[in-house]
Amino acid sequence: MTTDSIEAANRLNAVRDTMGRAARLTGRTADDITLIAVSKTQDAAAIQPLIAAGQRVFGENRVQEAQDKWPQLRAETPGITLHLVGQLQSNKAADAVALFDVIHSLDRPSLLTALAKAMDVADKRLPCFIQVNIGAEEQKGGCPISETPALIRAARDADIPVAGLMCVPPANVEPAPYFALLAKIARDEGIDQLSMGMSGDFETAIMLGATHIRVGTALFGERASPARPVPASGRGMIRNSREG
Ligand SMILES: *Cc1c(COP(=O)(O)O)cnc(C)c1O
Repeated sequence: MTTDSIEAANRLNAVRDTMGRAARLTGRTADDITLIAVSKTQDAAAIQPLIAAGQRVFGENRVQEAQDKWPQLRAETPGITLHLVGQLQSNKAADAVALFDVIHSLDRPSLLTALAKAMDVADKRLPCFIQVNIGAEEQKGGCPISETPALIRAARDADIPVAGLMCVPPANVEPAPYFALLAKIARDEGIDQLSMGMSGDFETAIMLGATHIRVGTALFGERASPARPVPASGRGMIRNSREG
């Protein structure tokens, strides 16, 4: 084993241990929770050791970047599942449907229309999480809470499999109330899967019912550069978001 692969295995074990502790408090085990390794900005050399350590579920936040990296990695290892965890433009819906297995960012009617059409053309139904703007933050993606029930109904009417609800709570505040709120909305809508929790708060998210956690930094280390280019005029705003 190389140093990289030992380190990747150690990080994966540490995350899974923490998952197990939190899961037991809700009568579950780590295996009941899907760990999505968010590999945005990581190159193939950084991803391969985690695959070697046994991780098979990965998340990316940009369609183009995922198209550049994953066809080759998937050819090397069968059985990889790819989740899109970032905002999706309607004009990229067809590309997203072609590449990904699950989408976590369905958050508006126009995207729903584009995804339904892309799924019809591809003759493929992708499970989608409805992303909820749980902190009512202007700069963030996600469906307003008040419009979420209608979006869920519209997705079901369009024959899009609604897998669950997803959120990214506001940065730098206690996330638990937001996780609890997402869980309540899901219960009210008869939805049982919750995509919530990142490196800094996945333990709390699991205790509050997360079924899918999206973890980057705790598995790969700090990202070298921001996931998205930061326009000079937008710096203040970006610094306040989790993209930090
Ligand atoms: C980057 C990202 C994550 C992972 O964040 P970490 O803090 O590195 O674990 C999770 N979800 C989304 C939507 C992301 O963009």
